[in-house]
Amino acid sequence: MTGVPLLVVVDEDPAQRRDVERELRNRYGADYRVCCLSSPREGIAMLQRLAEDGAEVALVLAGEVLDGAPGTSLLAQVRNLFPHAQRVLLLRWGLFGDSATGDAIFEAIASGRMDHYLLRPSTPPDELFHQSMSTFLLAWAESQHRSPHTIDVVGETWSGRAYELREVLERCAMPHRFCLAASEEGRALLAEAGERRFPLMVMPDGHVLEDPSDVDIARASGTAVAPDRDRYDLVIVGCGPAGLSAGVYGASEGLRTIVIDAGALGGQATTSSSIRNYLGFPRGVSGADLARRAYQQAWVFGARFAFMQRVTHLARERDGVVLTLDTGGVVEARAVVLATGASYRRLGVESLEALRGAGVFYGAAASEAPIVAGQDAYVVGGANSAGQAVLHLARYARRVTLVVRAESLAAGMSHYLVRQIEETPNIEVRTATEVVGGGGDGRLEHLVLRDRGDGELRDAEAHALFLMIGARPHTDWLPGTIEKDDAGFILTGADLSDDARRAFGRPPLPLETSIPGVLAAGDVRHGAVKRVASAVGEGGIAIQLVHRLLAV
Ligand SMILES: Cc1cc2nc3c(=O)[nH]c(=O)nc-3n(C[C@H](O)[C@H](O)[C@H](O)COP(=O)(O)OP(=O)(O)OC[C@H]3O[C@@H](n4cnc5c(N)ncnc54)[C@H](O)[C@@H]3O)c2cc1C
Repeated sequence: MTGVPLLVVVDEDPAQRRDVERELRNRYGADYRVCCLSSPREGIAMLQRLAEDGAEVALVLAGEVLDGAPGTSLLAQVRNLFPHAQRVLLLRWGLFGDSATGDAIFEAIASGRMDHYLLRPSTPPDELFHQSMSTFLLAWAESQHRSPHTIDVVGETWSGRAYELREVLERCAMPHRFCLAASEEGRALLAEAGERRFPLMVMPDGHVLEDPSDVDIARASGTAVAPDRDRYDLVIVGCGPAGLSAGVYGASEGLRTIVIDAGALGGQATTSSSIRNYLGFPRGVSGADLARRAYQQAWVFGARFAFMQRVTHLARERDGVVLTLDTGGVVEARAVVLATGASYRRLGVESLEALRGAGVFYGAAASEAPIVAGQDAYVVGGANSAGQAVLHLARYARRVTLVVRAESLAAGMSHYLVRQIEETPNIEVRTATEVVGGGGDGRLEHLVLRDRGDGELRDAEAHALFLMIGARPHTDWLPGTIEKDDAGFILTGADLSDDARRAFGRPPLPLETSIPGVLAAGDVRHGAVKRVASAVGEGGIAIQLVHRLLAV
């Protein structure tokens, strides 16, 4: 059975341990090895042996109390041995009413000592127990790049078009893994696919794409890519949380709706490995998972999607708005929701820009994390996205250094993330510091850091650099008649200038831009709260406003 991933249970109570063991063996026995132990001492000794043997542990379940101590003490130790194993505390029924238990669990999750909690199984079959178990096991499989329907990318090098493809797939929330053609895995894939032009994509159904364009990928994945010259009630530009939400509400409320995106699904949210503050997901949800669910929801209500196509031009005509795409396609709409979000600012260090994809990444920590296994990684940025990235990378890297220009982390990051960072031993924080140089032979090897206080320069060995340094709104393509703030975010409603308001001949609606019938929602909007929930909320509100516009 070596090579089969393990599910480990550590629980003192023999009867309760038997119940858990029964559920695990009955459901997962064919794909996982189940190992049950009665004391934390035995549990840790067993896990240490498994780590020495190179075994894979997918999940550890621990009883609430083990040997007089909270089960979280054992789960905290698991992280050093198996950084990707899902660590779950078992709870007996009735504890949900106990606020002290709730506080302790929040504290343990916030400080990274455990990942999830789970109500002990009830009389079989307990489908609720297994629903949660499947979620945990999927999260583990995704961390191992073993999701179902995974696309294999084979390249001759890590950089160039191979990196662009990984970026596209990441943006599309399409599970994928990358290997070099010369690696054992690459040779095995090539033996099946035959020698072809690189980079190569092997689709889940075995179909092979040679050096595909973005449009080839969209076609192969079954998404509509060529919107005919057609008239819609509603065109949504951008398929992030705001656009998806507008898509769900628009289509479900009978509007003929199309969502167009220059990339694909999920927008910025797909770069987040765990969104913990979105309503209804008490155990957190990956941005990719959330986007996939919303996409299916909108699709089943009848929304159409056009991926890998950038909208390049927008103009108001007599009875609607006309949008032109970079593929030459044209769509017309009675109303438009702009949900084009924002993306990371560039660092502006030439030698590092040249190594993009070869150790230097903008965002993308979720997909690139495995390549820093056992190495030194750097993250630049002082906001929540940088905090999340650093915690995620710390599960893989030997050491992660967070480089922040500000004097303290507290200035830009949520308190719960700051605490988690402080309590993670392999994370170092360098405040009042900036990255001013670096390089390497075909791959990032070192960085130059500057202390903003005394100006001192310091060379640091580095294998990966993740840049999360603020956002730039995607509004360059919009006509000058759409009013924006100094940073380029779109002005709406009460923020519009007096001139724009006067031209309306009526009060502009709250999310309406300076072009009547064109609304803006989500991060692209001036004054937006940059969160998934608020983008989703604005997408929904936009549809209510569209109804008001179309009723006139
Ligand atoms: C790493 C990371 C972690 C985060 N974690 C959290 C979190 O834990 N909780 C939380 O609440 N928020 C989090 N956020 C913030 C959250 O992801 C954003 O607030 C949210 O995604 C904004 O949604 P949006 O739809 O407005 O824009 P976006 O998500 O930016 O989507 C915009 C879409 O528009 C498309 N587009 C742009 N221009 C065009 C064009 N011309 N034509 C066609 N398409 C175009 C883009 O390709 C993109 O898909 C995180 C962000 C990042 C980067």
